[in-house]
Amino acid sequence: MIRKPIFAANWKMNLGPSETEDFAKSFLSKVQNRTFPCDIVIAPPFVSLSKAAEILGNVSSIALAAQNCSQYDSGAYTGEISGMMLKEFFVHYVILGHSERRAIYGETDEVINAKVRKARELNLRPIFCIGETLEERKSGQLEKVLRTQVSIGLKGLSERDLLDTVIAYEPVWAIGTGVTATAEQAQEAHAFVRSLVAEQFGNDSAAKIRIQYGGSVKPNNAAELMACPDIDGALIGGASLEPQSFLDIIQNGA
Ligand code: PGA
Repeated sequence: MIRKPIFAANWKMNLGPSETEDFAKSFLSKVQNRTFPCDIVIAPPFVSLSKAAEILGNVSSIALAAQNCSQYDSGAYTGEISGMMLKEFFVHYVILGHSERRAIYGETDEVINAKVRKARELNLRPIFCIGETLEERKSGQLEKVLRTQVSIGLKGLSERDLLDTVIAYEPVWAIGTGVTATAEQAQEAHAFVRSLVAEQFGNDSAAKIRIQYGGSVKPNNAAELMACPDIDGALIGGASLEPQSFLDIIQNGA
């Protein structure tokens, strides 16, 4: 396999600094002195990054991610956090375009593209999320939706920037619902997304880019999903909030 799988914990608005301390200490005790055939990424809320960095910042197998960042460098953007600020917390990845940001905070493909490009300018690695709603899937718009999200979201990236980006395919109907896409549905969508990358950036880049699956990934379904040829790891919400559950997913899936 030329692509190293990547397992990322998206904690969303869960685990403040003291809970992060408990998680990080417990997770560290389970993973230290071990090597993994995959990248492990943890995305705590902004206010917990400092605590996570303090405990996990020096562990070579683990990287930290933020769950969002501004498309701007600095200035009058109340409530926003810049990529430069994140780098002070040993953050190497940033989740961008998550469906909750799209649906609840109105982030458009264009805004997400600006954030992806800003992240790359700062040498942060975007975890760029895409995915269709149930209505879109049912009405036969799956391919159209993914095509729009990929073509605008990744517009203007160089090949190098593209390969430092991870795509997370997350069908919205599978997020937090307990309903996972079947391995067949997920593989089909991943292969389609890879074909879109090939159209936009060429076959070589498409073969190299990592595409994670997200949406109700659990220890008991990770192996089947990760066995699919175009699935290169997972973005995990609910089941990543508990150290053993996150580790079980990594061990079962990697
Ligand atoms: P879930 O969330 O694993 O709780 O479905 C995944 C995500 O939103 O990234």
